[in-house]
Amino acid sequence: MIDFDLTGKIALVTGAASGIGLRFAHVLAGQGADLVLIDVKEEQLNQAAEEIGKETGRRCVPILCNLMEEEQINDAVATTMELFGKIDILVNNAGIGMLESTLEHTTANWDKVAAVDLRATFILSREVGKIMRDQGYGRIINTSSMVAFIGGPDQVSYYAMKGGVANMTKAMAQDLGKYNITVNSIAPGLYPGTGIVPGPIDPKSYTMYRRSKIPFGRTGIQGDMDGILLYLASDYSSYTTGQVICVDGGLTAMRW
Ligand code: NAD
Repeated sequence: MIDFDLTGKIALVTGAASGIGLRFAHVLAGQGADLVLIDVKEEQLNQAAEEIGKETGRRCVPILCNLMEEEQINDAVATTMELFGKIDILVNNAGIGMLESTLEHTTANWDKVAAVDLRATFILSREVGKIMRDQGYGRIINTSSMVAFIGGPDQVSYYAMKGGVANMTKAMAQDLGKYNITVNSIAPGLYPGTGIVPGPIDPKSYTMYRRSKIPFGRTGIQGDMDGILLYLASDYSSYTTGQVICVDGGLTAMRW
């Protein structure tokens, strides 16, 4: 019987104060992992850590960290090592987007999206990757997006960075495989009710432009990504690396 037991594992999850990251944190702790939760929203972050700790009995430590700042990222990694002495699982989940068309998108806003979505994912993977190399074990999971595979209006930097995350995942997998570190990416489809995609959570009532093209006829709901997260975070994914897995109800599988 397959059992995604993560007892004894230490996981660091970014963007864990809300949305998909919060769910990921719940799921990992639910399987026995102890957690470090990173976010920039202090109140929600502390609340998340407290709730998950109470619910699962696992150790959940919130670390306030602005992923735009390299020094804060390094401090967060150092604090994690002081507290736990290792990092088995890194989930680079934090992300932002800006609703601006190409001709209106300023360089300053492009840089912000790049800093959180792509640069921080790289810096954390590099720094935690060194720790995982020394341990001889690691699981890195990057949150990309279905937008890595398609075009769309008014979010040019978001599309660019998520494409970057997907391809960076493949490149990092080449560098880190020899250290027994897997690097994979989950590419969510449309999951309303989060900071990135505010909107009604009811997947049937959601009227955003792509719903009709999703073969399942609904948007993503809580739980749709739990299985792939646990597979990639666990020992069962020992020979899976450099993969970008869309969990989008089949949306990106469609070809006209
Ligand atoms: P969300 O806004 O609820 O979650 C993002 C989290 O990242 C927030 O808690 C936010 O505070 C945190 N964050 C943002 N900037 C930060 C910074 N500078 N430092 C530290 N933390 C920061 O949105 P979500 O939908 O849960 O997004 C989670 C991930 O999933 C993102 O990478 C997003 O691009 C990706 N994604 C979401 C969807 C969707 O439909 N919701 C689809 C595809 C991909």
